Amino acid sequence: CGIFGIYGPGFDVARLTYYGLYALQHRGQESAGIAVGNGSKIRLAKGMGLVSDVFNDEKLGSFQGHLAIGHVRYSTTGSNNPANAQPLVFNYSRGMIGLSHNGNISNIAELRRQLSSTGSVFQSTTDSEVIVNLIARYSQNSLVEAIVKSMIDLKGAYSLLVLTENKLIGIRDPFGFRPLCLGRKGDAYILASESCALDTIGAEFVRDLEPGEIVVIDEDGLQSLQSLQVPRRKAHCIFEYIYFARPDSRIDGFNVNRVRYEMGRQLAREYPVEADLVIPVPDSGTIAARGFAWESGIPFEEGLMKNRYVGRTFIQPTQDIRELGVRLKLNPVRHILQGKRVVLIDDSIVRGTTSGKIVSMVRECGAREVHFCLSSPPTKLPCYYGIDTSLSELIAAHKTVEEIREYISADGLHYLSQEGLLGIFGEARGNFCTACFSGDYPTYVPDPNLQGKLV
Ligand code: 5GP
Ligand code: SF4
Ligand code: MG
Repeated sequence: CGIFGIYGPGFDVARLTYYGLYALQHRGQESAGIAVGNGSKIRLAKGMGLVSDVFNDEKLGSFQGHLAIGHVRYSTTGSNNPANAQPLVFNYSRGMIGLSHNGNISNIAELRRQLSSTGSVFQSTTDSEVIVNLIARYSQNSLVEAIVKSMIDLKGAYSLLVLTENKLIGIRDPFGFRPLCLGRKGDAYILASESCALDTIGAEFVRDLEPGEIVVIDEDGLQSLQSLQVPRRKAHCIFEYIYFARPDSRIDGFNVNRVRYEMGRQLAREYPVEADLVIPVPDSGTIAARGFAWESGIPFEEGLMKNRYVGRTFIQPTQDIRELGVRLKLNPVRHILQGKRVVLIDDSIVRGTTSGKIVSMVRECGAREVHFCLSSPPTKLPCYYGIDTSLSELIAAHKTVEEIREYISADGLHYLSQEGLLGIFGEARGNFCTACFSGDYPTYVPDPNLQGKLV
């Protein structure tokens, strides 16, 4: 998911949030929402679909206030239905509260059971509603104290924005799984999943929030606190760099574009292949392919054309035209591929279905050899911290690299090594979660078979 918040008296906060969400659209396409506070109440608008589907000029114009939060959703826990759209807004003992959440609470089943057994009721299936309930329970004293207490109970990944009628609060979990950064535009403060959203609204990047940090922004300015838990280590999701984040963002001190380029270079060093062309699988493989081409000296060519109007959520073709599937999105460029030995570069393989179809399309266009290279190690294990991959669909959980090569019928298949990947981060190499390839889960996971793998 993508989250964006602004505290900006004198600014059109609803519109700026809309533009911020637009810049974060790649982080979720299922639903979008904006909640605006005006000092005495919170107003909310949300709906299914893209940011541009949910809001229009009239709706945005009717939203007056001086602080706002927004959300774009990519479902992890909780199915794709309107009740799960965010921000969530509730009335509680101290007034109104709104919440935008990016991440996944890994002990959600336990928390939901505890809260239900003492009378909580839930209207959605998201873990985010459980967070609001928890905060409301602890709110005898102050909201900030309630947040600090809730953070002791919450396990897993959460970058959160909390809105009241007159306060904006940003929270990053003690491991720092999901990104969250702070920006400024004039006197306004902005919190956003990625720095590309700050650029989009003309705000200046100030810094990333620290793992376990809570920032409270109100008429007195900005105050920063640290949660009670002392994180044993940082665990930034490495998939943000591999696949999820936008390449023009800078996260926790690293430019996503630069990291992807270095992944491609490292891949070329690890896998010196004889080939005529390096071809990216657009868009996720493009930057790594450039790095691969640079390092190997093999020319880079755009041999697969992507239809940029096909989103991730496009209507699935019916059975009789199912074969078109991948071709609606990607079409090979015959005159580039014909007679060539090609290296295809992509970021990762999940099920292997797309990759298999791409290899066969490229062959049908006359490519003599097709090597497939990935800028990540094989994803073998499920993520409980906010990226939607289940064990059953992960091809690398069930097949060896050689079996996957056969399955996608490539002449060669090579994954970036874990050491090669982490080496790109130099001294920061220990600050990342790599659980979905290493099994090193930094914090609680519900699967008892994986518990032993906690380090
Ligand atoms: P596959 O060959 O496994 O069917 O598809 C691989 C493609 O899926 C890659 O191009 C990769 O960019 C994309 N991908 C990787 N991770 C994710 C994810 O978490 N969600 C979605 N929707 N696509 C992903
Ligand atoms: Fe990211 Fe993988 Fe860790 Fe999930 S398990 S947070 S996808 S590195
Ligand atoms: Mg892709």
